[in-house]
Amino acid sequence: MPNPGDEVLRKFEAYMNPGLARVYRLMGLDTAEVEANGSRILDSAGHEYLDFAGGYGVFSHGHRHPKVVEAVRAQLDRMPLSSRLLPSQPATELAEALAEITPGGLRYSFFCNSGAEAVEGCIKTARLATGRTGLVGAIGGFHGKTMGSLSVSGRDLYKKPFEPLVPGVTHVSFGDAEALDRAVGENTAGVILEPIQGEGGVLVPPDDYLPRAREICSRKGALLIIDEVQTGLGRTGRMFAVEHYGVEPDLMALSKALGGGVMPLGGFMGTPQAWEPWESNPLLHTSTFGGNPLACAAGLAAVRVAVEEDLPGQAQEKGEYALGVLGGFAAEYEEIIEQVRGKGLLIGVQFRSEGIGGMVMAEVFSRGLLAVYTLNNPKVIRIEPPLTIPRPDLDRGLEILQESLKVVKEMAREL
Ligand code: PLP
Repeated sequence: MPNPGDEVLRKFEAYMNPGLARVYRLMGLDTAEVEANGSRILDSAGHEYLDFAGGYGVFSHGHRHPKVVEAVRAQLDRMPLSSRLLPSQPATELAEALAEITPGGLRYSFFCNSGAEAVEGCIKTARLATGRTGLVGAIGGFHGKTMGSLSVSGRDLYKKPFEPLVPGVTHVSFGDAEALDRAVGENTAGVILEPIQGEGGVLVPPDDYLPRAREICSRKGALLIIDEVQTGLGRTGRMFAVEHYGVEPDLMALSKALGGGVMPLGGFMGTPQAWEPWESNPLLHTSTFGGNPLACAAGLAAVRVAVEEDLPGQAQEKGEYALGVLGGFAAEYEEIIEQVRGKGLLIGVQFRSEGIGGMVMAEVFSRGLLAVYTLNNPKVIRIEPPLTIPRPDLDRGLEILQESLKVVKEMAREL
């Protein structure tokens, strides 16, 4: 029987992105997704996959969490989009809920539709609040692909073709507080960091790094912008990853899991001090679809579920377990695995070469598991399943990974 996925891929190649279509074929991803539930995805040929990629952090609540779906359905029947003239309840409720669960003095929220937009908002607010223009980011950091968010991201491959980017951006080694101290100057508006670098290859900084970054920013009058787009809402074992380090940012970017795995939603938050300049000109930064009722209804349900179902606790417990099992794999397959690391259910498996990572991706896929490498470090495959993943699914996924490692180890030996 023909797989309707062939037709999808053909049209993807003909009308969307021929280069990416070739990559899909090369990786054996020659099918199409049609349905998803919990930690499983169904393709057009009727195959089921365990989702260990979790939409790079989008599906922390699992696919189609019933409470999020229900909230969206109810809002759809009332008012999906805003008139833009009047404030609407889902957005205000979500802003209040976020103010209650975010660390430190973060109080105000601006909602948008993606992570990159959330970062753009942080950059603009930092400039406005400080009257300065410079920005400091980290090498290997990933903040999105719009011009501003790309400028503060730290991988040349994605940046070079679009230069000149936003001026005044400096990059320093992630985890090196001395280098950060040297880079932050009189004209630095903000320092933007992920608390744990996701796309950089799941890099956990030294324990004192973020507290020192906080101190440097406070001392030099720059704002500390924390990008929790991938780590927010429980992924690393705390509601927000900065909580591991007891750090209170001035601005925070959110997205991915904020939409509960059902709607696209982003947002940035700030302290009253950071928000102050918006008061005299509240329309300096706007977005037509930002804060729309449908997405915010999903966001509110997502926050409530994260609290009620203790998503951070689930991430912590399942993450510790998975990290233990993967540590065993690292010892068993040391010819191909260099290191396993992470926090909560944001785990990276670093292979000895990019090629091996690619082979592992193809092998796990052929056995019914979806896993993917990190954008700024293709040697690293991320283990980032829904935080709600049932233990048998987690175990089965790890088992598939082990079977695949065994095959790839043999293949690598023959190369
Ligand atoms: N910031 C971080 C930490 C991310 O991981 C990402 C996406 O992977 C972004 C920002 C950009 O988000 P988006 O792709 O929604 O623009």
